[in-house]
Amino acid sequence: MSQRQGITLTFGTALLAASAALYFWSPAVAAAALLFALAGFAAARLLGASASDEEARRDLASAERAGAATPNVAAAVVAGEVPAAALLDVTMDSMREAVVVIDSAMRVVALNNSARDVFRDDGGSPLSPRRLSDLTRNPAIYSAFAAAVARGERAEVKVGAARGDDLRTYDLHVAPLRQREVVYGSDVRGAVGVFFDITRLERLELVRQEFLSNVSHELRTPLTAIIAFVETLEDGALDEPENARRFLSAVRRNADRMRDLINDILELSAIEAGTVAVEPRQVRLAPLVGDCFTALAARAADRGVALRSDVGADVFVYADARRLEQMLTNLVDNAVKFNREGGEVRVTHERAGGRDRVHVADTGDGIPEEHLPRIFERFYRVDRARSREMGGTGLGLAIVKHLARAHGGEATVRSTTGQGSTFSVELPAAKNA
Ligand code: ADP
Repeated sequence: MSQRQGITLTFGTALLAASAALYFWSPAVAAAALLFALAGFAAARLLGASASDEEARRDLASAERAGAATPNVAAAVVAGEVPAAALLDVTMDSMREAVVVIDSAMRVVALNNSARDVFRDDGGSPLSPRRLSDLTRNPAIYSAFAAAVARGERAEVKVGAARGDDLRTYDLHVAPLRQREVVYGSDVRGAVGVFFDITRLERLELVRQEFLSNVSHELRTPLTAIIAFVETLEDGALDEPENARRFLSAVRRNADRMRDLINDILELSAIEAGTVAVEPRQVRLAPLVGDCFTALAARAADRGVALRSDVGADVFVYADARRLEQMLTNLVDNAVKFNREGGEVRVTHERAGGRDRVHVADTGDGIPEEHLPRIFERFYRVDRARSREMGGTGLGLAIVKHLARAHGGEATVRSTTGQGSTFSVELPAAKNA
């Protein structure tokens, strides 16, 4: 076996170990191992040299001692059963990470299938790219590789690339490929870049930031009102009994709002974190609907809204009774709040395709179509001012959605502007039902 095959084999097997690290340990360890492995692979491609089989075996043995090689695969390669180049190609192509290797003239020496996918969708011509500039015009990618080749610098940059309609984000790690001898004043013979897809992480981070800023904003509004009323009281309104009472009740209302908000936030994070136990059982639906109507009867009467249940006494659904009541209460409460004076809220049940559906229909203004896809998002409201005025937290529907999912079901909505909305909770039926 030649020295080139030896290097290829050593690093090929290290590459396998690196891939394993990626799945079982931390991405950082994997990234380092991966870069090491790929550097070897590229070195094998870039350095065309021959040496004795003995030398190659020594390399392999030391790689095995270092724990990088997979003895079975290595043995198969040494025995000539598996060609080293084919093993590398298969390994590279089975990686989720996109890998690009270039030489010192910025020519593409190797790239795997994931890299072809990334650059094809991003407008490059990845089938047989000759230069890095055929692959991508992204200046951030280009300069990371250029810095590695020209100055031997390692780089870690965040880069974006289009994937269909999606903009994906990658953490690109680029490392120079060095050899022992210095040619034209440099030992750098090329560079290898690995693209880690961090789109999901980035989105989660964005959601977290948005949530934090929403929460702060939502809490600040009632708090600012409380401070203003207290200041007015301190400035003399306390001595005017009628005003004092009015301001105090405004303080009370805003403090209640803050408490509701904090309760809903805690509830939502508990459900999302999976710490809320959902214990489904066969429960009779009609009494649950009845309890929920009783709790909201005064509110409905205030607004002249009639509450009707068409749920038969013999209907059972497979759900956690307390959680189902919580979902229904949120939906019926909204159906009352956003109804018209003298309107109606109707609860119905339907079973189809092994699933139970509980519908809450109202005769309100309905929800314009453009809002429907986002209506279950935290803090999403069609009319912010109206929701606040009604004491809403903007979290009710998000809680319903998460609870429905915790049951293995889903929450959905249909609405026609001017005619009302129907919110539905879909639950899987019990297996023996
Ligand atoms: P809120 O506390 O504002 O009620 P929700 O998460 O329960 O928060 O609802 C979010 C928004 O969805 C509401 O602010 C309202 O704009 C809209 N919405 C919810 N239910 C209805 C309904 N039955 N009819 C019309 N709009 C609704």
